Amino acid sequence: MHGSWGYFPCIKSCELWLDKQLSKSQPLHSQSIQEVRSRYFKNWHGFCVLRRNGDKTARPPHKEKRFQTTTWKKSAIRFKEGLFGKQVVMSNGRGNKPLVVDLPKKFNLENIPAIINLVYNRGQYELHFVYKIDKAVKCESEGIVGVDIGEVHPMVSHDGLITNIFNGRHIRSLYRLRNKVIASFGKKIDRCKRHSQRWWHLVKRKWKRIRKIDNQIMDGLHKHTTKFVKLCEERDIGTIVLGDLTGIRGNINYGRRANQKLHQWAFGKITQLVTYKAKALGIKVEVIDESYTSQTCPNCGNKHKPSTRDYKCKCGFTYHRDGVGAINIRQKYLGRLGDPVAATMASSIGFQLETRCCSA
Ligand SMILES: [Zn+2]
Repeated sequence: MHGSWGYFPCIKSCELWLDKQLSKSQPLHSQSIQEVRSRYFKNWHGFCVLRRNGDKTARPPHKEKRFQTTTWKKSAIRFKEGLFGKQVVMSNGRGNKPLVVDLPKKFNLENIPAIINLVYNRGQYELHFVYKIDKAVKCESEGIVGVDIGEVHPMVSHDGLITNIFNGRHIRSLYRLRNKVIASFGKKIDRCKRHSQRWWHLVKRKWKRIRKIDNQIMDGLHKHTTKFVKLCEERDIGTIVLGDLTGIRGNINYGRRANQKLHQWAFGKITQLVTYKAKALGIKVEVIDESYTSQTCPNCGNKHKPSTRDYKCKCGFTYHRDGVGAINIRQKYLGRLGDPVAATMASSIGFQLETRCCSA
């Protein structure tokens, strides 16, 4: 097919046909079906728009999915007191039994979730409760904080006066453990016949271990980001500036490939967590290109690549390496990268080390 992508009339008739089919009795709740339908056509529309704008690599939704996320909307969700505690009841299509799931003892029933998603995640099903939060009033604070997301320290922030370092030792050790588990299971799994009983057994056990470690990593990231956002609120910060790693950073040697992956993953997660947590408090989040922010001296503007954990400049300025990154990200956002405005900084910058973030 060349020229115009004439998908739209086709989509319309397809949608109409689907709606006719959907009006018959179905195993799922009508709104759950609607959700899948709208998700599918949304993807399709998105594809059409991309093609129209000249993106030749865009492909229509074509992969068959083994597991689809099922969504229950508010009207299909009920809570009840079961024999052994609280339960959530999710209605299905007429004539079909609802899905009933026991809730943990501490579960808070005060807020009713807007939707519940049933998600398949590496060998097990999970229920994701999605809540609606009232939009926070935008605060008009002047404060700006720059954040450097690094390999050694997940977050280092600088607000013009104080540098905060969030220690990543706990998270890093979890990553090492994760790699170890993958390697040791990989060896065992390689020795079995694919899809044999033992093979499945090992694969299941492997994901169970990985899932637990991933949850611990997420827990650590949640604790760091919550602490950070709360700190911002206390200090009247109006804007959080994050450095974007997807920009040019080619001349930095990551060492191992795995490091880079980890880094990008953590960056994405931290950005996502900080963004939604800050939004809830009415703090703005900006993402800027972080190139040169780790090399420029905040004191004299000279460019120089630090080789150790400390940044040492010819002018005598010495500072924590990731702290320099955070200072420069803030400066860059203000349009002052390399300006020697920080002449008095070296002596006046406060320094705070965050303690280890553990699950206790
Ligand atoms: Zn310098």
